Amino acid sequence: MPLDDFRRYGHQLVDWVADYLATVERRPVLATVAPGDVRAGLPARAPDRPESFEAVLADLDRVILPGITHWQHPGWFAYFPANSSPESILGELVSAGLGVQGMLWSTSPAATEVENLVLDWLVDLLGLPSSWRIDTGPGGGVLQMSASDSTHTAMVVARERAVRAGAEIGRLVVYSSSQAHSSVEKGARVAGFGHVRAIAVDEVHAMDPLVLAHAVQRDRDDGLVPCAVVSTMGTTGTTAVDPVRSVAGVAQAHGIWHHVDAAYAGTAMICPELRHLQDGVELVDSYAFNPHKWMFTNFDCSAFWVADRRELISTLSVLPPYLREAASQSDVAVDYRDWHVPLGRRFRSLKLMFVLRSYGAEGIRHHVREHIRLARGLSERLAGDPRFALVAPVPFGLVCFRHVDGDDATRALVAAVNATGRVHLTASELPDGTTFVRVSVGQTGTVQRHVDALWALLDSLAG
Ligand SMILES: *Cc1c(COP(=O)(O)O)cnc(C)c1O
Repeated sequence: MPLDDFRRYGHQLVDWVADYLATVERRPVLATVAPGDVRAGLPARAPDRPESFEAVLADLDRVILPGITHWQHPGWFAYFPANSSPESILGELVSAGLGVQGMLWSTSPAATEVENLVLDWLVDLLGLPSSWRIDTGPGGGVLQMSASDSTHTAMVVARERAVRAGAEIGRLVVYSSSQAHSSVEKGARVAGFGHVRAIAVDEVHAMDPLVLAHAVQRDRDDGLVPCAVVSTMGTTGTTAVDPVRSVAGVAQAHGIWHHVDAAYAGTAMICPELRHLQDGVELVDSYAFNPHKWMFTNFDCSAFWVADRRELISTLSVLPPYLREAASQSDVAVDYRDWHVPLGRRFRSLKLMFVLRSYGAEGIRHHVREHIRLARGLSERLAGDPRFALVAPVPFGLVCFRHVDGDDATRALVAAVNATGRVHLTASELPDGTTFVRVSVGQTGTVQRHVDALWALLDSLAG
């Protein structure tokens, strides 16, 4: 494509994205296609001859948009948010334009140094231990694709530490609460752990540290080797908060690697009044949260820190001759290829820097507090109505409730509300099998009137 055409189509596509974001609210939240429709609407074989770019773009409206589930819709209350912002989208555009591979400092110094810097900023913004700053501390942060990758990486480092200390891999055990995200079990399995224990939770769905301590002791008595524990700050089901300090006590007593999965709720730590929820975080070995969930930064962007970067690097560093670069041998330069599984890496930190600088900490705090205020307002309305019962506290932007008439009524309510196309909710199940509704408030464009509209639907459809 000649660059003059790129300029023209580029302007046209920025307009297209802006129009999309300005009007997404008027679309039904869910995709309107049947399975196979999208594929059938596009060429069956890759074209031999070049198509005009106009023809390619025409399919955006004709085929792609009907097949989109609108995560950026302000009526998106399902799962967790995957929110975004114009600043983030522009950062993504520049990153694609530069097209660098940032695996070594020398393969694009700015990609590495901006990432070092924004992860150090986040340490301060989220009240994390200053020793995790890469510029001064023994720790350091890296951007990964997903929280699943971060957890998997933590598991691999924990495994290596135990194996180097002489443990047999088949005897290593990983622990998390029964409410931990499925990526913990998956990461542990991929890392080669044969024993993964789901620890029972208390009445607010948080890990019970006494049950953990007993499980660890029992495994040791049985000749197994407790190796890693994952605390969740904000579980996916109900945003329960595991007691990080108590879990750290068990982990430290037994030399167990302690990873904190704060994928969703980590963003909320930008509000000092919520930081008591991560009390004890200075005692853990690694921590991850996803700016791509609630920090206005489009997927993919997961921030991962370790308290001691040497353990991470010594686990993941391999040095083929074609990667031996003079600059990288120095202590000053960070080579991020040694901080995660992939070699090649995108310039992900640019979009995060665009967001952090243009919102400012105050801006992000404002929006996060607003989402939490909206969620609490909804939870008060639900609590005040005899047809509904809350099933979990509301520490962040997630409201969990059920219909008092039982599971069938709860499922019917979710189906009826979603069928309107104006909002989208997800149902889930408590540990005892009770069905409940999750309402997650966190989309960039979600304001009071969207939550009011949701309440009106719940009120009129609950029977
Ligand atoms: C969403 C979520 C994950 C998975 O995040 P990915 O970035 O999609 O891998 C992990 N843990 C928790 C607690 C989550 O809420």
